[in-house]
Amino acid sequence: MSDLAAFGVAELQKKLRAREISPPEILRAVNDRIERLDDDLGAYLSRDFETALAEAETADVNLPLGGIPIAIKDLINVSGQPCTAGSRILQGYRAPYDATVIARLRGVGAIPFGRLNMDEFAMGSSGENSSVRATRNPWARDRVPGGSSSGAAAAVAAGTAIAALGSDTGGSIRQPAAMCGVVGVKPSYGRVSRYGLTAFSSSLDQIGPLTKTVTDAALLLEVIAGHDAKDSTSVKAPVPHFTASLARGLRGLRLGLPREYVSDGIDPAVRRAFDEAVACLTTLGAEIVEVSLPHTEQSISVYYLIATAEASANLARFDGIRYGRQTKEISEIANFYERTRSEGFGTEVKRRIILGTYVLSAGYYDAYYRRAQKVRELIRRDFTDAFAQVDALISPTTPTPAFRLGEKVSDPLQMYLADIFTNAANLAGICGLSLPCGFSEERLPLGLQILAPALAEELLLQIGFAYEQATAWHEMRPALTS
Ligand code: GLN
Repeated sequence: MSDLAAFGVAELQKKLRAREISPPEILRAVNDRIERLDDDLGAYLSRDFETALAEAETADVNLPLGGIPIAIKDLINVSGQPCTAGSRILQGYRAPYDATVIARLRGVGAIPFGRLNMDEFAMGSSGENSSVRATRNPWARDRVPGGSSSGAAAAVAAGTAIAALGSDTGGSIRQPAAMCGVVGVKPSYGRVSRYGLTAFSSSLDQIGPLTKTVTDAALLLEVIAGHDAKDSTSVKAPVPHFTASLARGLRGLRLGLPREYVSDGIDPAVRRAFDEAVACLTTLGAEIVEVSLPHTEQSISVYYLIATAEASANLARFDGIRYGRQTKEISEIANFYERTRSEGFGTEVKRRIILGTYVLSAGYYDAYYRRAQKVRELIRRDFTDAFAQVDALISPTTPTPAFRLGEKVSDPLQMYLADIFTNAANLAGICGLSLPCGFSEERLPLGLQILAPALAEELLLQIGFAYEQATAWHEMRPALTS
């Protein structure tokens, strides 16, 4: 890859400031590469080149991200742009305002460009629940890129995006980042404003960056993080200067290895790469300590009770009247809602609305939803106890490398297990990062996950940076023809 689109944020920043290149040149390079590669990959749902070009022409390269295009998962509002959440029900809908993260990106000169494919309403682990088409993994076209930020991970890996914003409710940034060989950060709950994010599960959702390097993730996170009066769950805490503390190193840090995450169920290639990563971290000066997260086994069940309950409430607003597409067959109002929703939602979304409505219904609420909340508290305590012994935790991001397209579509439980190592972090509200740590024999990328306490993103990025500096995995790129 020799074109400008292959570079990351930090590299382009330097070239822009040295006046070696201009913002319109970068934008054209990205757009050309999308034109060449995206019919095959399916990472993008739409893009508005003319608007972005006008912005690039007047971009101020002295601003922190001045003139750098950032691709956006299609569930974050960008004023005037489509925002479909990968669903038929939002066909034709255009966002009336900028999400806070978009306003902040614009505030430092970045240009939102391109709407990224995703599992419908962020429900999925493979990208195959997109109502438009499945995204392919740039490393192997017969494999999934992971999900639900499938387009974001695939585009960053393929160099059809400089960097991207995705969302993570149970793993949707970290899991596709791992499967596509890029860096992904799920910030702590409340760290990044959710204002303007299409809600899936409001007590779990977070927006975060998918990038080519840890430095780029730090650059984006320091822009999008911080308190926002428009999101009542956003935390009033100062945002550290993440890029300034990256090089602090690992000496004196204790890293916990959760016993339950390195059990027999994981793929041998994943295990091998993880063991090598642990050895590398030790060489860099970290002390590795085995810890236990005893409620790991319950996390998938708890996640799917809470996430579906909240989704059933959040998705009630899509009634065909206020947003997007409506049925043509109108006879009376009740039947209008029913038809609009039957035609507009895909199978997985319907499954979750039904399950979520059931677990919230009178007579079952105590048995399922209230119980799930109690076990969620136990999961949270597992992490509090672990972080009393260690500074951060490390694990594989996913139990297997990218699986084949179609392999798990008819088995939702198998699909749900793809998030076994990621969803507890959302339940506990802590932060997590995935970065490349090797390849399987079939040359599929593998991810190392780092988890740190709530609001400890600085530490998370510092550990990721130390590992990245010591390895070359992040420099590997898929071979893409055309
Ligand atoms: N794969 C998980 C799900 O389907 C997580 C999705 C997400 O993080 N948005 O719910």
